[in-house]
Amino acid sequence: MKKATDSAATPAEKKIRSAERDMIALGIAIAAAILFVGTGGTLMPQIVKAWFFGGNQPDLLLANALLLNIALLIFGWRRYRDLHKEIRVRREAEERARRLAERDPLTGCLNRRSGPPALEALRTALADTDREIAVMMIDLDNFKQINDLNGHQLGDRVLTTIARRIEDTLPHDGVVARIGGDEFVCGVPFDHNARNAVDNLVAMIVRNTSAPIESNQMTVEATVSVGIAESGAKYAGGGTMNAEALIHRADIAMYHAKKRGRNRYYWFESQMEDELRFRNELESGIRRGIPAGEFVPYYEQQIDLATGKLTGFEMLARWESPRYGLVSPEIFIPIAEEIDLIGELSERLITQALEDAKGWDPALTLSVNISPIQLRDPWFAQKLLHLLLESGFPPSRLEIEITEGCLHENMGAVRSIVTSLKNQGISISLDDFGTGYSSLSQLRSLPIDRLKIDRSFISELAHQREGRALVEAMVSLGKGLSLPVTAEGVENSEVLGQLQGMGNLQGQGYHYGKPEDAAATRKRLASLDMLNKDNVTAITGQATSANDQRKAS
Ligand code: C2E
Ligand code: CA
Ligand code: CA
Repeated sequence: MKKATDSAATPAEKKIRSAERDMIALGIAIAAAILFVGTGGTLMPQIVKAWFFGGNQPDLLLANALLLNIALLIFGWRRYRDLHKEIRVRREAEERARRLAERDPLTGCLNRRSGPPALEALRTALADTDREIAVMMIDLDNFKQINDLNGHQLGDRVLTTIARRIEDTLPHDGVVARIGGDEFVCGVPFDHNARNAVDNLVAMIVRNTSAPIESNQMTVEATVSVGIAESGAKYAGGGTMNAEALIHRADIAMYHAKKRGRNRYYWFESQMEDELRFRNELESGIRRGIPAGEFVPYYEQQIDLATGKLTGFEMLARWESPRYGLVSPEIFIPIAEEIDLIGELSERLITQALEDAKGWDPALTLSVNISPIQLRDPWFAQKLLHLLLESGFPPSRLEIEITEGCLHENMGAVRSIVTSLKNQGISISLDDFGTGYSSLSQLRSLPIDRLKIDRSFISELAHQREGRALVEAMVSLGKGLSLPVTAEGVENSEVLGQLQGMGNLQGQGYHYGKPEDAAATRKRLASLDMLNKDNVTAITGQATSANDQRKAS
């Protein structure tokens, strides 16, 4: 019965009971010791006398009391010993539990819970000294990709290796914690007039962590982006900053490093916070704007340079933002890619563009730009074919533009997507050609239909002789590979003249006008008598393109 109540007791109750028992045992032991001193003091000489010199026998009652006393002393001693052991075991268990609770089981670093307090402790310890603490936020670049492409086992291996490399690089009084999947935060003390010591340290971390990591005959390279914030900083706002605030600032600076191309570090500066706020506003604007239909296709003419004939249009996305006005894709496409909305955005735009293009002369083609992120989606080809099927637009009139950068990412996957699109009759153009270092063997191994020379080379034509040699080299490369070539960014008649002298090229650019929305494009086509005669909307001239419908509603 007793046992049952004991086991039902809470740990706190058990602790109180065992403390009560220990108090009683201690009381008994003390009483026994006092008694032993009292009785033993008079009785022992009597016993010794009786044994060795045959004196009077000691009082039996007192002798028994002394024996009992000795038994109690032995009991007390043993209890003390057990207690001692119990405390040691409990302390060890507590220590183990504490270590488990504050350590990250994978890397052995401090974890998300214990890291910030450890930094705070370091910061307060330095408060009245000449030293300050630099807090560094270290984030792996492309860790998700490493995980996705190579599996979680290798991902774990990368994390443990990076953690060890960071620990090995930090000074002995540094603190390192893993506070997210692929995020580490560190704190190091430094002399406040030797900030460059921190620069050197962080540069070393960036360098050391990027060394190749080998596992099971696979080699991966993982780089890091780092943001740094210092405790005694004289930024706007001033005042003392606790560890949490420093981590926040280091995080903002880390984000800045990511934006500036990764594999680098930045010290926090207060304008970074404003940039981030603006970036977040844009992000929520994009999230709201997609379902609200604020993103619309614009169209840029594509011309046969020899004949001057219009051959088709390239669709270029625009954001008609109620807050910011007409926003360039250079601003919102990278954000949409980052927040994983590029697929949805692109599909909506393509749907609208297909609808618009159905109203054009059937000889005209439609080109759409596809982000490298979309090519990572194994269902991309199916999704695009589904859009074509739904709209009834012939695949042979559609071209997709992929940038050279795509080819470095995952050549195998890109090849299989591109091949299945091509099998359905869609054409593939290699966009921004000349900027992405694609090799000849890559060009030959992909079923590409066209090269589009990047506009940076074309604009050089007007000013530089070497520019001309480069463009000529690219044009003859196209000839050698039997690929037609488009020149982007034809801005004036002088450039046009030079290009016309290089062979049979297609071209596009401001020389032919800026990209226009669906309604203006229709108007242009109407004036050229190039609207689709079979399309009812073309004959009635009603504004029924997806974009116009949206505007009308
Ligand atoms: P891009 O594919 O190279 O598109 C051509 C860009 O050059 C367009 O900029 C166009 O307006 C601009 N341009 C055309 N002619 C000239 C010229 O004569 N001189 C100069 N200086 N520029 C000219 P835009 O519309 O701002 O688009 C920028 C980039 O955004 C595009 O570059 C493309 O990479 C991307 N983009 C646009 N729409 C989409 C889209 O729907 N999806 C994806 N993934 N990317 C898109
Ligand atoms: Ca393009
Ligand atoms: Ca381009």
